[in-house]
Amino acid sequence: MHLEPFELHQPATLDEALQVAASHPGDFDYLAGGTDLLPNYKMRLNPRGHVIALGGIPELHAFAPEAGTFGSLVTLRQIERDPVIARDYPGLSEAARQVATPLVRASGSLGGNLLVETRCFFFNQSASWREALGYCLKAEGDRCHVVPQKERCYATFSGDLAPSLLVLGAEVDLVSFQGPRTLALDDLYDPRGDGIRRTRLLPGELVVRVRVPPEGRKSRSTYRKLRVRPAFDFPELGVAALLSLEGQRVRSLRLAVGGLETYPRSFPTLTGPLEGTTLTDESIAELARRVQGMVRPVHNTFLAPDYRKRMTEVFVRRALADLRGAS
Ligand SMILES: Cc1cc2nc3c(=O)[nH]c(=O)nc-3n(C[C@H](O)[C@H](O)[C@H](O)COP(=O)(O)OP(=O)(O)OC[C@H]3O[C@@H](n4cnc5c(N)ncnc54)[C@H](O)[C@@H]3O)c2cc1C
Ligand code: SF4
Repeated sequence: MHLEPFELHQPATLDEALQVAASHPGDFDYLAGGTDLLPNYKMRLNPRGHVIALGGIPELHAFAPEAGTFGSLVTLRQIERDPVIARDYPGLSEAARQVATPLVRASGSLGGNLLVETRCFFFNQSASWREALGYCLKAEGDRCHVVPQKERCYATFSGDLAPSLLVLGAEVDLVSFQGPRTLALDDLYDPRGDGIRRTRLLPGELVVRVRVPPEGRKSRSTYRKLRVRPAFDFPELGVAALLSLEGQRVRSLRLAVGGLETYPRSFPTLTGPLEGTTLTDESIAELARRVQGMVRPVHNTFLAPDYRKRMTEVFVRRALADLRGAS
């Protein structure tokens, strides 16, 4: 497999990057660490004619863990190794540590992780493999092999950091030709999309930074990942949990999952009612069962959907039992 030619642009400012993007509508990708984009290009998964490398834009590298501010080009290795993050946001630290391999984490960025391409057994294959099957909706074809129909893609969101940042209540600062704006991370993803367009990003809009509100520091957080090969693989399930207690009572409780559906997902309607209560083994077990009941994995990754669904209950229950013990 080799890279087909493309034109590489190396802007030095956000304005320059936006201008290049505006000159090539629909035919460009932003490039951060390239650990997701370039392997996909090599497999001919929707390559574009123009690649806009973001590495020369200084503000995207900003790293201020004490202030809870992380430029989109902050690497997973920086997050994994930073002592302030390990102390204040342990779930985020754990999530970064469990992404891929040390080599990938050295280049892979936070922004790229939030926007990592969704994965599917029928998509992440060579062009000749996909051609033999007639391609699929997500690249060059017109049907889905997982849920046969012609409208929607069910590829799986496989980024590890989004669930951990969702429970921390993170926000993303964005910029486009229409100006800057901020979205709650939850609102970056758009479950009403067709599964191919998965975010609420405007054309050419890019992620400048991620900000984590200070309240997260008073809480315990954790991240648990199910994968086939622990040294290497994408999540088949990722569960992030955050808990803070006031005495015996829950002050805040948040849960989010990834690796199951096309979007990372949080459960405010399930966790909200538990605030102000005392967590018991029974209430934790009931919550875990209800989360399991809400998730809908499909058969497009290595492990069977029924197993991933059952493990969701197990991971949620264990994560909360551990956090309750640690608080
Ligand atoms: C062997 C291997 C194993 C992996 N395992 C895991 C894993 O276990 N867990 C996991 O989460 N990931 C995994 N990955 C995927 C990937 O390495 C990481 O998600 C990484 O964080 C992606 O970051 P990047 O900077 O390399 O993104 P890139 O590849 O540069 O970009 C990814 C996507 O984000 C877009 N993008 C990047 N930055 C911006 C921005 N600032 N604004 C707008 N768009 C942007 C790009 O256009 C592209 O569409 C794995 C990759 C490999 C090769
Ligand atoms: S879920 Fe369907 S459309 Fe999406 S990548 Fe897989 S086969 Fe293609």
